Amino acid sequence: MTERLVTTDVLVIGGGLAGERCAIEAAAAGFDAMILSLVPPRRSHSCAAQGGMQASLGNCVKAEGDNPTVHFLDTVRGSDWGADQEVANIFADEAPVAVRELAHYGVPWSRVEGGKNHYFIKGEEVEIEEALENDGLIGQRDFGGTAKWRACYASAGTGHAALFAVDSEVVRLGVTVRDRTEAVALIHDGSRCLGAVVRCLRTGAHFAVMAKATVIATGGYGRIYGQYTSNATINEGMGTAIPLDTGVVPLGNMEAVQFHPTTISPSGILVTEGCRGDGGYLLDKNMSRFMVEKEPEKQELASRDVVSRHMAQCMRDGNGVDSPYGPHLWLDIRHLGEEHLRTKLLEVWDICRDFAGINPAEELVPVRPTQHYSMGGVRVNKDGQAYGMSGLFAVGEVACWDMHGFNRLGGNSLAETLVAGRVVGRRVAEYASGVSLQADTGVALDAVTAAEQRAAEWLARLGNGRSVYEIRDAMGELMMHKVGIFRNAGELAEAVSELGQLLDDCDNAVLRCKDPGVNPELSFALRLKGMLRLAMTVAMGAEARTESRGAHFRTDFPLRNDREWLNRTLVRWGADDSAPSFSYEPTGLIDLPPGHRGYGSDERIEMQQSVDDYNENVLAEQTRHGRLESVEAMGSRLIQGAWQSVT
Ligand SMILES: Cc1cc2nc3c(=O)[nH]c(=O)nc-3n(C[C@H](O)[C@H](O)[C@H](O)COP(=O)(O)OP(=O)(O)OC[C@H]3O[C@@H](n4cnc5c(N)ncnc54)[C@H](O)[C@@H]3O)c2cc1C
Repeated sequence: MTERLVTTDVLVIGGGLAGERCAIEAAAAGFDAMILSLVPPRRSHSCAAQGGMQASLGNCVKAEGDNPTVHFLDTVRGSDWGADQEVANIFADEAPVAVRELAHYGVPWSRVEGGKNHYFIKGEEVEIEEALENDGLIGQRDFGGTAKWRACYASAGTGHAALFAVDSEVVRLGVTVRDRTEAVALIHDGSRCLGAVVRCLRTGAHFAVMAKATVIATGGYGRIYGQYTSNATINEGMGTAIPLDTGVVPLGNMEAVQFHPTTISPSGILVTEGCRGDGGYLLDKNMSRFMVEKEPEKQELASRDVVSRHMAQCMRDGNGVDSPYGPHLWLDIRHLGEEHLRTKLLEVWDICRDFAGINPAEELVPVRPTQHYSMGGVRVNKDGQAYGMSGLFAVGEVACWDMHGFNRLGGNSLAETLVAGRVVGRRVAEYASGVSLQADTGVALDAVTAAEQRAAEWLARLGNGRSVYEIRDAMGELMMHKVGIFRNAGELAEAVSELGQLLDDCDNAVLRCKDPGVNPELSFALRLKGMLRLAMTVAMGAEARTESRGAHFRTDFPLRNDREWLNRTLVRWGADDSAPSFSYEPTGLIDLPPGHRGYGSDERIEMQQSVDDYNENVLAEQTRHGRLESVEAMGSRLIQGAWQSVT
């Protein structure tokens, strides 16, 4: 008989690092936990992470003096003051624990080698003597936007090593994993989440999973940028789209989209920031190191938003290298030498050879910026609890927790998945221990029937409508070219109008394959409307935000405007509502007052309000916008003024 309804204590939608780490916490607390994943968990996108995971261990000479407060400062500056500073503080405090825990799980971290080491810093080779007593400690490399070498790494396969280790722990704890199973809707009563409707990708069958607590951990949604993303093909964003459909849960800062400077042209496969951290540099068509002139202090290791913009401008100015696939720039890592590349950047060595036919020890690597990371996502409080709906949590890249604000620092995402997995996992377990399973089977089975009808309607549709893949490709093109690195009112308005047209086209699109079972076209069609709705929230959010902050850059409003825009965008859009509604809440309690990031432009419109006055309103305003109370009071993890001791 076909399964219609199953129950568990904690349902985790997503088997990447964030979801698995969260499930470990729930299982360790004695709860039945179930993980859903589109693919076997070890193939989740976390596996692709390369260069490192930030934690202020201070293990090597260039990391001396590092501590969580310095990490906090870098993170807030990196975010262009868009982050929730209390969350950034929790994160920086707990990241060292997360890295050491991974060592305990079995991650083979690259290690400090005591004695003389040769590094490349700002293009120059230098000799640094690492203390012999540090020999064998977890090694750290330089990354963009940081004051210290802080990225802990396992060659350039950090995500792979971490995910395999964490997944082994999931197996050891006996967590139920259902792979090739997709959550397609949330089951809820308008204020409490009861679980999810899921679809088996092997058979096409739908069923309900009811749970005391539901955690969304579905990663980013880079595929709304079509081919212009470093994200895997599974990063299509259903996990972000389904809470939006409820009309109750808002998404935060959807216009905050990160572009990574170095993806290989034309494949879009990323080569890690660790290449530049280890001393690689960028060249234009004249073999000129343009970043030295643009950012004399940080050079190639300014934050990603800044480097990507300089690269895009360099190509706009005609200094890109022409190719049949459009212009690109060069990444030069030849001077690092084959031995370094084959030990500390092994995956980069392999990627260059396998996907570009290049020997990076001898040849330049063609690179250009591409969509990479979604700072925006399901808006949650510091416990990971979604705004507006109890029993629903979000963690990892899908969440807007929000420690990244408008620009995430490299290495801060892997660290977030593990830190937030622990923190939110603990809160999920606490929540689950205080509620009973509300098995309103009528609501659940109605939701299953509605999902079945959606699939049946797609299969029954006839006519000459566009193909779903054609609509997807059109969305990707317009997102990259009109909602990309540089944005302006005219192009954003065009993007919004064209996305509206694509939404209409989606309602009339016709499938070529009518099989209800294993049918990738149907599976994709069921996601397409959600993807278009996400794309629309990005474009409309960007159109409304008339300033530039982090990765959101408006050529018509080039300054950061702390007077009017020191806030977070929230968007709600119920499945039956014709248009999204936007509102704005304060970013959170401010500890480090807005200032210069230390790279990029120092020009900005200053806030007029005092920090104290701003902070005064945060609690009431965020509550008004749907924030649910956290277990510990707001501000309890922010030691006001601690940063003054390190600046
Ligand atoms: C090429 C690349 C390199 C990177 N390198 C680094 C790095 O060096 N350092 C760093 O800090 N960050 C890096 N990042 C970013 C980082 O890897 C990701 O942000 C992070 O791993 C996301 O983890 P996650 O657990 O949130 O999501 P993911 O690992 O993406 O996992 C999402 C999970 O959700 C499942 N899923 C999705 N939708 C559904 C659904 N509807 N139903 C059921 N399951 C679903 C998927 O199957 C998957 O299991 C990199 C990213 C890329 C693209």
